[in-house]
Amino acid sequence: MVANVPTVAPGKYTVYLGPVINPTTSTHFDILPNCLVVVDPKGNIERLIENLPHGSELQNVLGQIGVPDGRYSLVVLEHGEFLMPGLIDTHIHACQLPNLGLGGDHELLDWLEKYTYPTERRFSEIDYAARIYPEIVERIINSGTTTSCYYGTLHLEATKLLADIVRSKGQRAFVGKCNMDRNCPSYYIEPSAHVSLETTKLLVAHIQNLPQSSAGEPLVHPVITPRFAISCTEQLLTDLKKYVETNPHIAIQTHISENQQEVKKTLELFPDCTSYAGVYDKYKLLRSNTILAHGVYLTDEEMKLIAQRGAGVSHCPASNFYLGSGMARVRKLLDHGVKVGLGTDVSGGNSPSVLYAIQMASNTSKMVAILPNEGGKKFDVAMLLYLATLGGAEVCCLQDRIGSFKEGKAFDALLVNVRDDSGNPAVWGYNPNRDLAEGDCLKKEVLKEWLERFFFCGDDRNIRQVIVQGSVIGGQGRQG
Ligand SMILES: [Zn+2]
Repeated sequence: MVANVPTVAPGKYTVYLGPVINPTTSTHFDILPNCLVVVDPKGNIERLIENLPHGSELQNVLGQIGVPDGRYSLVVLEHGEFLMPGLIDTHIHACQLPNLGLGGDHELLDWLEKYTYPTERRFSEIDYAARIYPEIVERIINSGTTTSCYYGTLHLEATKLLADIVRSKGQRAFVGKCNMDRNCPSYYIEPSAHVSLETTKLLVAHIQNLPQSSAGEPLVHPVITPRFAISCTEQLLTDLKKYVETNPHIAIQTHISENQQEVKKTLELFPDCTSYAGVYDKYKLLRSNTILAHGVYLTDEEMKLIAQRGAGVSHCPASNFYLGSGMARVRKLLDHGVKVGLGTDVSGGNSPSVLYAIQMASNTSKMVAILPNEGGKKFDVAMLLYLATLGGAEVCCLQDRIGSFKEGKAFDALLVNVRDDSGNPAVWGYNPNRDLAEGDCLKKEVLKEWLERFFFCGDDRNIRQVIVQGSVIGGQGRQG
């Protein structure tokens, strides 16, 4: 039984009043300086009044929309604060945080051998996992990530524990156990395809039995996780194929075309396939609930195939720079109709923060835009916001629940603080002595600037609350 599952107060609504940023598409977001968000006792958005006229009697407004007096708690945002949808990390290895910032002078395959596999093997000791997974998940939540697509290690017990911890902390997530039965060191490899599949089934059953959210639906989902084609025998991929075909609703995550050496080795191992994406397609691993990390070297043909299958790509720019892998052509992916979200890819990426992924995605788009024969527009704030929220939700097939604020959706949100008192010296934020006079109306342009500063200069000090399904699960002001 999982303890300490946070829930909203029984029967209580939460009413937020203040500035809201709300993505709608990859090219547009709503800037709402005086918005009212009514969150029902289950943690879903019951009403969203985009522009509450100044001077409105709140009590009357709430009465009119059926929120009885005394049954709600009111959160009035201070100047310098705004709400936005929570950040979605579509690719992160929880087990690699202890490895963060080490080995960036190596490329992928060397880095795995020298740094990552030795780090991951330690999770064979359940005491080690129990000691460090809670802190890891806490750090990720406080970075502003409301939904994470987690890779665990190959160990069943440690990964079950990771799922328990994520659930007890109230984060929305996918949790998977790596399938890997070849081309890995003898100390860190599964003994057979059979064992790999059977332990995967046990993890899926475990996660499916975790307590549901206050909305009566799963908060933590299982995800089938063949590490990458190189680490899976054809037998294992064949077994996984049969399993996923009988379980169409279970998500799949893996890596694809991250590094040139990796692509070369993959094609050598699967000589009957003409492309990396073709390998996964052969084993029916490309479908609408598949999350493919990286996709740096995908050809146009592969992009077409991925779009046809409806799979999504997790763009992990921090990792692609840190391990010198290359630069993904995200605009081209989107133009082909591929769903794209952002991933930190800790610890290939050197930060657990999606904010850093946003910054690196911006840089990648600028560099790709000046490459000969690539071109494409660099990303603006609307695109970056989309990739970090709604785009990620689409990659996770959760766009009907999260990624933006809409009546009926779950309230997964960040309460962002760009005031000078956040303690982050990089944010030239709101200061009452310098900026708005008390009572002045917040202009849309100013709110847009706050978002931009948060994206490019913000960190966890600027996140007052991290909210999932209506419950505050982290942030600087969690207790306040
Ligand atoms: Zn990865």
